[in-house]
Amino acid sequence: MTDIWIMRIGHRPQRDKRVTTHVALSSRALGAKGIYVDTEDRKLEENVKSVCERFGGDFEIRTGVKWKNVVKDFDGVVVHLTMYGQRLDEALPKLPSDGRMLVIVGAEKVPPEVYERSDHNISVGNQPHSEIAALSIFLYEVTQGDSLYADRDGKLTVIPNERGKTVVEISK
Ligand code: SAM
Repeated sequence: MTDIWIMRIGHRPQRDKRVTTHVALSSRALGAKGIYVDTEDRKLEENVKSVCERFGGDFEIRTGVKWKNVVKDFDGVVVHLTMYGQRLDEALPKLPSDGRMLVIVGAEKVPPEVYERSDHNISVGNQPHSEIAALSIFLYEVTQGDSLYADRDGKLTVIPNERGKTVVEISK
């Protein structure tokens, strides 16, 4: 099993608050261990931590961290998701099935150095779309969706229901 961490670069707190929140929550839902965000954003941290507190798990968020330092200190494989990268289906067999992986996603244009410093530049199709979509598809392919229904031992647990909402609340 691979420990997956996300590095979000180019986050602009005012403009990207919803998108980066969704990058973080999608990463968490799909089994990543945590996310680093390059720009400090306390509100974003609070929002993501509040979801973790209610729905459980030990997902981490750290904002205001420089991507170059994260990459330099990361002891694992670095993947950069970009529409210009190699095909996902061709890249997947080259990725480790255990160990640690850092997945970089951008907001707007990513500095050329990110392409050079990454071990793999991978595309999820060669059309421009979204960091949330690219990351979710990538994580689903890498993890085979293993975390989607994992029990996270939260205060709130959603029980799948074909018609309505079933939420079990446990006071902790
Ligand atoms: N020109 C950018 C690119 O290099 O992919 C598109 C910018 S897009 C608004 C923001 C981020 O979404 C990118 O930095 C990349 O991480 C991700 N992204 C968008 N389309 C993608 C694709 N087809 N494959 C992989 N990642 C993609």
